[in-house]
Amino acid sequence: MSEFIIQVKNLTKIYGGDGVETRALDGVSFTIQKGEFVAIIGPSGSGKSTLMQLIGLLDRPTSGEYFFEGENSLNFSENELANIRNKKIGFVFQTFNLLPRTTVFENVELPLLYDRHLSGKEKNKEKIIKALEEVMMSHRIGHHPNQLSGGEKQRVAIARALVNNPDIIFADEPTGNLDSKAGVQVMKILQKLNHQGHTIILVTHENYTAQHAQRVIEMKDGKIISDKKTENQAKARDGIRLK
Ligand code: ADP
Ligand code: MG
Repeated sequence: MSEFIIQVKNLTKIYGGDGVETRALDGVSFTIQKGEFVAIIGPSGSGKSTLMQLIGLLDRPTSGEYFFEGENSLNFSENELANIRNKKIGFVFQTFNLLPRTTVFENVELPLLYDRHLSGKEKNKEKIIKALEEVMMSHRIGHHPNQLSGGEKQRVAIARALVNNPDIIFADEPTGNLDSKAGVQVMKILQKLNHQGHTIILVTHENYTAQHAQRVIEMKDGKIISDKKTENQAKARDGIRLK
Protein backbone atom coordinates (compact mmCIF):
# COMPACT_ATOMS: atom_id res chain seq x y z
CA MET A 1 0.00 0.00 0.00
CA SER A 2 1.47 3.31 -0.88
CA GLU A 3 0.01 6.67 -0.20
CA PHE A 4 1.72 9.65 -1.83
CA ILE A 5 1.47 12.80 0.21
CA ILE A 6 3.54 14.59 -2.43
CA GLN A 7 3.91 13.83 -6.11
CA VAL A 8 5.70 16.19 -8.48
CA LYS A 9 6.09 15.70 -12.20
CA ASN A 10 8.58 17.59 -14.32
CA LEU A 11 8.49 20.66 -12.09
CA THR A 12 10.21 23.74 -13.51
CA LYS A 13 10.69 27.17 -12.00
CA ILE A 14 12.19 30.03 -13.94
CA TYR A 15 12.74 33.34 -12.20
CA GLY A 16 12.65 36.33 -14.53
CA GLY A 17 13.54 39.99 -14.12
CA ASP A 18 15.81 42.46 -15.93
CA GLY A 19 16.14 40.20 -18.93
CA VAL A 20 18.08 37.63 -16.88
CA GLU A 21 16.37 34.29 -16.46
CA THR A 22 17.34 31.79 -13.79
CA ARG A 23 16.20 28.22 -14.23
CA ALA A 24 16.09 27.43 -10.52
CA LEU A 25 14.28 24.10 -11.05
CA ASP A 26 14.76 22.14 -14.22
CA GLY A 27 12.32 19.24 -14.63
CA VAL A 28 12.13 17.68 -11.18
CA SER A 29 10.01 14.55 -10.55
CA PHE A 30 9.60 12.47 -7.38
CA THR A 31 7.07 11.15 -4.89
CA ILE A 32 7.02 11.21 -1.09
CA GLN A 33 4.91 8.83 0.95
CA LYS A 34 3.08 9.66 4.11
CA GLY A 35 5.35 9.20 7.14
CA GLU A 36 8.68 9.57 5.31
CA PHE A 37 11.58 11.68 6.59
CA VAL A 38 13.31 13.07 3.50
CA ALA A 39 16.33 15.35 3.31
CA ILE A 40 16.89 17.52 0.23
CA ILE A 41 20.57 18.23 -0.08
CA GLY A 42 22.77 20.18 -2.47
CA PRO A 43 25.10 23.17 -2.69
CA SER A 44 23.95 26.77 -2.35
CA GLY A 45 21.94 27.85 -5.40
CA SER A 46 21.01 24.30 -6.45
CA GLY A 47 17.26 25.02 -6.09
CA LYS A 48 16.48 23.49 -2.68
CA SER A 49 14.59 26.47 -1.26
CA THR A 50 12.77 26.99 -4.54
CA LEU A 51 11.61 23.37 -4.45
CA MET A 52 10.52 23.73 -0.85
CA GLN A 53 8.53 26.90 -1.66
CA LEU A 54 6.69 25.03 -4.40
CA ILE A 55 5.91 21.86 -2.46
CA GLY A 56 5.05 24.01 0.58
CA LEU A 57 2.44 25.71 -1.63
CA LEU A 58 4.05 29.11 -1.04
CA ASP A 59 4.72 29.62 -4.76
CA ARG A 60 3.60 28.19 -8.10
CA PRO A 61 5.80 26.43 -10.67
CA THR A 62 6.48 27.81 -14.14
CA SER A 63 5.50 24.41 -15.53
CA GLY A 64 4.97 20.84 -14.39
CA GLU A 65 2.46 19.25 -12.07
CA TYR A 66 2.18 19.02 -8.32
CA PHE A 67 -0.26 16.73 -6.52
CA PHE A 68 -0.69 17.42 -2.81
CA GLU A 69 -2.36 14.52 -0.97
CA GLY A 70 -3.48 13.23 -4.37
CA GLU A 71 -5.08 16.47 -5.53
CA ASN A 72 -3.70 18.59 -8.37
CA SER A 73 -2.49 21.82 -6.76
CA LEU A 74 -3.88 23.83 -9.68
CA ASN A 75 -7.36 23.01 -8.39
CA PHE A 76 -6.83 24.84 -5.10
CA SER A 77 -8.16 28.39 -4.75
CA GLU A 78 -6.04 30.99 -2.91
CA ASN A 79 -8.28 30.43 0.10
CA GLU A 80 -7.81 26.69 0.03
CA LEU A 81 -4.05 27.12 -0.36
CA ALA A 82 -3.92 29.39 2.69
CA ASN A 83 -5.99 26.90 4.64
CA ILE A 84 -3.75 23.97 3.71
CA ARG A 85 -0.63 25.95 4.61
CA ASN A 86 -2.14 26.74 7.99
CA LYS A 87 -3.62 23.33 8.86
CA LYS A 88 -1.67 20.65 7.05
CA ILE A 89 1.81 22.13 6.79
CA GLY A 90 4.23 23.42 9.39
CA PHE A 91 7.20 25.55 8.33
CA VAL A 92 10.55 25.92 10.07
CA PHE A 93 13.19 28.32 8.71
CA GLN A 94 16.90 28.88 9.26
CA THR A 95 16.23 32.34 10.75
CA PHE A 96 13.47 31.13 13.12
CA ASN A 97 11.11 33.98 12.06
CA LEU A 98 9.74 34.54 15.57
CA LEU A 99 7.98 37.83 16.33
CA PRO A 100 10.40 39.74 18.59
CA ARG A 101 7.97 41.70 20.74
CA THR A 102 5.70 38.81 21.68
CA THR A 103 6.19 35.98 24.14
CA VAL A 104 7.00 32.36 23.41
CA PHE A 105 3.36 31.51 24.16
CA GLU A 106 2.04 34.15 21.73
CA ASN A 107 4.45 33.08 18.98
CA VAL A 108 3.21 29.51 19.18
CA GLU A 109 -0.40 30.73 19.37
CA LEU A 110 -0.20 32.57 16.01
CA PRO A 111 -1.28 29.70 13.70
CA LEU A 112 -4.30 29.11 15.95
CA LEU A 113 -5.49 32.73 15.62
CA TYR A 114 -5.74 32.31 11.86
CA ASP A 115 -8.97 30.38 12.32
CA ARG A 116 -11.35 32.69 14.14
CA HIS A 117 -14.24 30.33 14.70
CA LEU A 118 -12.02 27.69 16.22
CA SER A 119 -12.37 26.26 19.73
CA GLY A 120 -12.09 28.31 22.89
CA LYS A 121 -9.12 29.82 24.64
CA GLU A 122 -8.61 26.94 27.07
CA LYS A 123 -8.39 24.40 24.27
CA ASN A 124 -5.84 26.57 22.46
CA LYS A 125 -3.82 26.95 25.63
CA GLU A 126 -3.66 23.16 25.95
CA LYS A 127 -2.44 22.82 22.36
CA ILE A 128 0.22 25.49 22.83
CA ILE A 129 1.56 23.91 26.00
CA LYS A 130 1.55 20.45 24.46
CA ALA A 131 3.52 21.73 21.43
CA LEU A 132 6.01 23.47 23.73
CA GLU A 133 6.37 20.30 25.81
CA GLU A 134 7.25 18.33 22.66
CA VAL A 135 10.26 20.61 22.16
CA MET A 136 11.09 20.93 25.87
CA MET A 137 10.29 24.64 26.00
CA SER A 138 7.17 24.83 28.21
CA HIS A 139 9.27 26.33 31.03
CA ARG A 140 9.95 29.44 28.89
CA ILE A 141 6.36 30.35 28.08
CA GLY A 142 6.61 34.04 29.11
CA HIS A 143 10.05 34.72 27.66
CA HIS A 144 10.64 36.91 24.64
CA PRO A 145 12.75 35.59 21.73
CA ASN A 146 15.73 37.83 22.63
CA GLN A 147 15.93 36.02 25.99
CA LEU A 148 16.48 32.66 24.28
CA SER A 149 19.50 30.92 22.75
CA GLY A 150 19.46 30.05 19.05
CA GLY A 151 18.59 26.43 19.75
CA GLU A 152 15.76 27.47 22.05
CA LYS A 153 14.39 29.88 19.43
CA GLN A 154 14.38 27.12 16.84
CA ARG A 155 12.59 24.78 19.25
CA VAL A 156 9.89 27.44 19.76
CA ALA A 157 9.64 27.78 15.97
CA ILE A 158 9.14 24.01 15.76
CA ALA A 159 6.39 24.23 18.41
CA ARG A 160 4.70 26.91 16.29
CA ALA A 161 4.94 24.64 13.24
CA LEU A 162 3.47 21.81 15.29
CA VAL A 163 0.58 23.51 17.05
CA ASN A 164 -2.03 22.68 14.39
CA ASN A 165 -0.84 19.04 14.27
CA PRO A 166 0.22 19.25 10.58
CA ASP A 167 0.63 16.26 8.27
CA ILE A 168 3.93 17.62 6.95
CA ILE A 169 6.72 19.68 8.45
CA PHE A 170 9.03 21.53 6.05
CA ALA A 171 12.31 22.64 7.57
CA ASP A 172 14.65 24.78 5.42
CA GLU A 173 18.20 24.70 6.86
CA PRO A 174 16.79 24.53 10.44
CA THR A 175 20.27 23.99 11.93
CA GLY A 176 22.03 26.56 9.71
CA ASN A 177 22.32 29.19 12.45
CA LEU A 178 22.96 26.79 15.34
CA ASP A 179 26.05 25.37 17.00
CA SER A 180 26.48 21.63 16.51
CA LYS A 181 25.03 20.61 19.89
CA ALA A 182 21.83 22.66 19.41
CA GLY A 183 21.69 21.41 15.82
CA VAL A 184 21.75 17.77 16.89
CA GLN A 185 18.99 18.47 19.41
CA VAL A 186 16.81 19.99 16.67
CA MET A 187 17.43 16.95 14.43
CA LYS A 188 16.51 14.59 17.26
CA ILE A 189 13.24 16.49 17.75
CA LEU A 190 12.47 16.20 14.03
CA GLN A 191 13.18 12.44 14.22
CA LYS A 192 10.84 12.12 17.19
CA LEU A 193 8.07 14.00 15.36
CA ASN A 194 8.60 11.72 12.37
CA HIS A 195 8.18 8.68 14.60
CA GLN A 196 4.92 10.19 15.83
CA GLY A 197 3.71 10.09 12.22
CA HIS A 198 4.50 13.52 10.79
CA THR A 199 6.05 13.51 7.32
CA ILE A 200 9.26 15.55 7.50
CA ILE A 201 10.96 17.30 4.59
CA LEU A 202 14.29 18.80 5.53
CA VAL A 203 16.45 21.04 3.36
CA THR A 204 20.14 21.18 4.20
CA HIS A 205 23.53 21.61 2.54
CA GLU A 206 25.22 19.43 5.21
CA ASN A 207 25.57 15.74 4.54
CA TYR A 208 25.87 15.03 8.27
CA THR A 209 22.51 16.68 8.98
CA ALA A 210 20.88 14.87 6.06
CA GLN A 211 21.88 11.49 7.51
CA HIS A 212 19.23 11.97 10.23
CA ALA A 213 16.59 11.40 7.53
CA GLN A 214 15.57 8.06 5.99
CA ARG A 215 16.08 9.19 2.43
CA VAL A 216 18.28 11.80 0.78
CA ILE A 217 17.42 13.55 -2.48
CA GLU A 218 20.47 15.31 -3.89
CA MET A 219 20.13 18.37 -6.13
CA LYS A 220 22.49 20.18 -8.43
CA ASP A 221 21.74 23.02 -10.86
CA GLY A 222 17.98 22.63 -10.42
CA LYS A 223 17.99 18.89 -11.10
CA ILE A 224 17.85 15.76 -8.93
CA ILE A 225 21.14 13.89 -9.30
CA SER A 226 20.50 11.11 -6.75
CA ASP A 227 17.76 9.73 -4.50
CA LYS A 228 18.92 7.22 -1.88
CA LYS A 229 17.81 5.59 1.36
CA THR A 230 19.96 6.17 4.45
CA GLU A 231 20.74 3.65 7.18
CA ASN A 232 17.85 5.05 9.21
CA GLN A 233 15.42 3.67 6.66
CA ALA A 234 15.57 0.08 7.89
CA LYS A 235 15.06 1.16 11.50
CA ALA A 236 12.14 3.35 10.52
CA ARG A 237 10.46 0.59 8.53
CA ASP A 238 10.34 -1.60 11.62
CA GLY A 239 9.44 1.06 14.18
CA ILE A 240 7.25 3.59 12.43
CA ARG A 241 3.64 4.25 13.30
CA LEU A 242 1.76 6.12 10.60
CA LYS A 243 -0.53 8.91 11.64
P1 ADP B 1 19.28 26.90 -2.59
O1 ADP B 1 18.17 26.96 -1.59
O2 ADP B 1 19.64 25.51 -2.98
O3 ADP B 1 20.47 27.68 -2.15
P2 ADP B 1 17.55 28.54 -4.25
O4 ADP B 1 16.35 27.73 -4.54
O5 ADP B 1 17.43 29.57 -3.18
O6 ADP B 1 18.78 27.57 -3.95
O7 ADP B 1 18.03 29.26 -5.57
C1 ADP B 1 18.18 28.59 -6.82
C2 ADP B 1 18.55 29.62 -7.88
O8 ADP B 1 17.46 30.50 -8.12
C3 ADP B 1 19.72 30.52 -7.50
O9 ADP B 1 20.47 30.77 -8.65
C4 ADP B 1 19.06 31.78 -6.99
O10 ADP B 1 19.89 32.88 -7.16
C5 ADP B 1 17.81 31.84 -7.84
N1 ADP B 1 16.67 32.48 -7.14
C6 ADP B 1 16.11 32.04 -5.98
N2 ADP B 1 15.04 32.80 -5.64
C7 ADP B 1 14.95 33.76 -6.60
C8 ADP B 1 14.06 34.86 -6.82
N3 ADP B 1 13.05 35.11 -5.99
N4 ADP B 1 14.27 35.62 -7.91
C9 ADP B 1 15.28 35.35 -8.78
N5 ADP B 1 16.14 34.34 -8.64
C10 ADP B 1 15.99 33.55 -7.56
MG1 MG C 1 18.13 27.74 0.35
